[in-house]
This record gives sequence, structure tokens and C-alpha cells, in this order.
Amino acid sequence: MNVIAIDKIIRSDRKSIGIEIGRDASLIVRAPKKTPMEAIEKVVSEKQGWIVEKQQIMRQRLESIPDRKFTADETFPLLGKEYPLFISENAMPHLSFSGSKFMLKKRYQGQARRLFFVWYRKKAAEIIPPRVEHYARLHSISYKKINISWAANRWGSASSQGTLNFSWRLIMAPITVIDYVVVHELAHLVQQNHSRRFWDQVSEMCPNFQRARQWLVENGHTLTLGRQDVVSDPDRL
Ligand SMILES: [Zn+2]
Repeated sequence: MNVIAIDKIIRSDRKSIGIEIGRDASLIVRAPKKTPMEAIEKVVSEKQGWIVEKQQIMRQRLESIPDRKFTADETFPLLGKEYPLFISENAMPHLSFSGSKFMLKKRYQGQARRLFFVWYRKKAAEIIPPRVEHYARLHSISYKKINISWAANRWGSASSQGTLNFSWRLIMAPITVIDYVVVHELAHLVQQNHSRRFWDQVSEMCPNFQRARQWLVENGHTLTLGRQDVVSDPDRL
């Protein structure tokens, strides 16, 4: 008998049953196409201890993400620092940043979430491309195009055609972390995989990358506008 609810079963050509806990603490089971439900339940029941423990860790992580309501005195991250939000009757434009605080026009509070998304993405489009340019030039790597994506769970990606994509969420992270992701994607234009040679390339371009990488593993989940944005898929690079 199972007491744990399975949130999603993904059937595919795989050979064995696999269990995953999503970032939203959901239980996802991957199984071969024709696996009977009893076999899945059996595996889940056998791994119950591990599942409960992992779900608890994920729930704690979720709770550490602010549940923002876009009201005065909530703080919003930018380049690794938190800045308070001020609501004003006559702020111009609807949402702005003064260098020490965010200002939101009271009349637009209901649209704050969208305004912040747009603001962050614009800021990312301002800050990230010059970083790419800097590292690309320094290491003679050429790329075609930079996109700031809306992707919820992909920090960055590089296409074989030379297009680099970066998540808007990165702009909330310290610049050293942004630089690591930039270098990571540029290195993919030289090495398409995550081989030893790839990591050597990253290390050459960004000697302290391990620290930034670790920061992302430990804090990446907090780089979001709120708990409701967290999806089950893990953040990837
Ligand atoms: Zn990668």
C-alpha cells in the first residue's frame, strides 16, 4: 500500500523504473512503456524513506523562496543584492530602479509581476551581452547572436549555429555567477559536451568557476519572482 502520491508518471523506452523529486517537491516516476501500475507502486513503496526525505528538503527550499505580493518593503534581487520596493502615487515610469530601491507606481501594483519580468529581462539584455563580448574577444571565440530567454529552468544554452541563450533570471545573481554562465555557454561553442576538455576550457576562461557553480547549485532556486514560478524541472546548464 502506498501512502505517497505520485504526481506524474512518464513512460518511455527506458529499461527500468526511475524516481525523481521535482523542485516543486512533486514525485515523478519514469517507467518503461508497459510497466503495470503495481510494479510502479512497489518501487515507490520500497523507496518511501528516500522520497519523504527528499520531498522534505525540496519543501524547505521552496519555503526559503519569498512569496512576493509586490507590496512596499518587500525586497527584490539584482546582481546578488536585495533592494526594497517603494510604492508611490506618482512614480514615473510604472516601475523604475534608483540604484538603491525599486519604485512602483501605485496604480500599476496589480500588474507588478509582469512589470518586474519585463524590467529584469531588459536589464539582463543590457548587462549580459557586454560580458559575452568581453569573454568572446579575450578568448577569440565567435558567436552569432545572444537571446535573453524567458526559460524558467535553463540558465543558458548554446546552439551549434552560434546562438547563445541566457535566462532573464540570471540578472538576479551576482556578476561572478553571470560570468560563469557566460563562460560556460561560450565554452560550449568550442566543446559541445560536458567532457573533461570542456571543463578545462571553462577553467581557463574563468579560474574560480567552481565557486560560482556551487553558488548556483545552492542559491539558484531563489532567483525567481516568487514561489509560484517554481517548476518541477531542475535548473540546468
Ligand atoms: Zn553545459
